[in-house]
Amino acid sequence: MLCHDDQSNIVPVEHRKVTYRLYPSKTQAAALLHLLRLHQQLYNAALDQRITAWRRRRVSLSYADQCRELTDLRRECPEFATANCSSQQRTLRRLDIAFQAFFRRVKERGERAGFPRFKSLHAFPGFGFKSHGDGWRFVPGADGKHGKLRLQGVGVVKARGQARTGGTIKACEVLHRDGVWSLSLTVECQPIRAGGIAACGLDWGVSDFATLALTDGTHRSIANPRLGQQAERGIRIAARAVARKKRGSNNRRKAARHLRRLRQRLANRRRDFAHQRSAELAGRFALIATEELNVKNMTATACGTADAPGRNVRAKAGLNREILDTAPAAFLALLRYKATEAGSEIVEVPTRTLKPSQRCPACLRVEKKTLSQRMHCCPCGHVEPRDAASGRVALNWVLGQMQSGREPTLRERAGVAPPAHETPSIPQDWMG
Ligand SMILES: [Zn+2]
Repeated sequence: MLCHDDQSNIVPVEHRKVTYRLYPSKTQAAALLHLLRLHQQLYNAALDQRITAWRRRRVSLSYADQCRELTDLRRECPEFATANCSSQQRTLRRLDIAFQAFFRRVKERGERAGFPRFKSLHAFPGFGFKSHGDGWRFVPGADGKHGKLRLQGVGVVKARGQARTGGTIKACEVLHRDGVWSLSLTVECQPIRAGGIAACGLDWGVSDFATLALTDGTHRSIANPRLGQQAERGIRIAARAVARKKRGSNNRRKAARHLRRLRQRLANRRRDFAHQRSAELAGRFALIATEELNVKNMTATACGTADAPGRNVRAKAGLNREILDTAPAAFLALLRYKATEAGSEIVEVPTRTLKPSQRCPACLRVEKKTLSQRMHCCPCGHVEPRDAASGRVALNWVLGQMQSGREPTLRERAGVAPPAHETPSIPQDWMG
C-alpha cells in the first residue's frame, strides 16, 4: 500500500514494532501471571493434542481445527473463558507457526530439525492481541511519550517508552521475562528519517567492525566494541555456578536467573550498538556500497573432514566467534530498513566477480592477499589500509555503474559524482 505524504513523495506504509516497559501494580502483576499461565497451558495442551492426533490417527491438526476446539474448551472450562478469545487464537497460531517452521526445517535439513517443545511458565514468552480495542487498548501519553495499557481482566497498566514514528496501533504482544513485563506494539506508520547526501563504500571487518571508504579519498573506521568478548568471562563463571548447584534447588534457580540476566544484558548492548551505528550511517549517506554479506559462508568451520582435515581450525573458530560477536547480518537488516526510511540506498556489489578485497581501487589489478596483510600496496603506487581499499573498490564500482547508466534506480539527489581521477573506467568484462 502506498500513500502520499506532504511533499507528495511516495512513502510506503510499513509495520513497526515499538517496545514499552510495563509497570503493573502487585495485583495487576498477579493477574498478568494468571493470564500467562492460561496461555501457557493452552499452548502445551494444543501441542499435546497435535502429537496425540498424529500418533494415534496419523492426522495433522490444523490451526482451524484447534480454533474450533478452543470454542468447546471455553464452554467446558469457564476458567479459560476468562481470557480473551482472539488472544487465545493468537497463541494457537503461534504453535501453528512453530509447526510450519519445523516442517520447513525437516525439508531443508532432514532429521536434525528440532520439534516444537512444551514450555515451562518461565520460558513462555507472553501472549498477543489482534485488533485494537478487542480486550485491550493502548492510550499514548501526551506528546506521544509513555502511555497506558488497558487490559481485559487486568486493569490499566502504566507503560514507559516512546515511538519514533506515530501511526495506527494494530496489534500487541504482552511479554514476560524474569519478572519484567513489557509491551510490544505493532504500529502501521509511514516512517521517514532525515537522510544524508554522501556516498561511501563499506567493508565489514573483524579488528574494526566496519571501514568506510569516502569519496574524498579518506576513510573512517567503526571500532569493534567486542561486547561478547567483554561479557564472556562473566557468563562462563555464571554458567559454571549454575552447573554446580543441585537441580531443583533454590540456589540453582537464583544462579540461573543471574545467568539469564547476563545474557540478556549482552543481547541488549549488541542491539543498542547496532541501532545506533546503523542510524548514524543511514542519516549520513545517501549511497552505501557494500559486499554481499554471506555470514554462513564467512563463518563456515575450517574443520574439514576426517579424510581431508582443514588447516588453522582453531584460528578460524576464533575468527568465527569474533565475526558472530559483531552480528553483521542483524546489523545489515537494521541498516537496510533505516536506509529505506531515509530514502537512501544500499547497493551490494557482486563479490565473486569483483573481488573487492583483492582488487586495487586505483588500477583494478587483482592480487591475492593473505588475511594477515593489513595494507594494500599496489605496484601502481596506490597504498591504503586493506579494508579501506576493499570498500573503495565497491564504492567505485557502484559509482561507475551509475555513470554508465546501468543502474537507473539510484537517486539523483545522492549528488555523489566523484572527482574524475577517483573513478577508474570499468572494463566490460568485470561482471565475468
Ligand atoms: Zn594499483
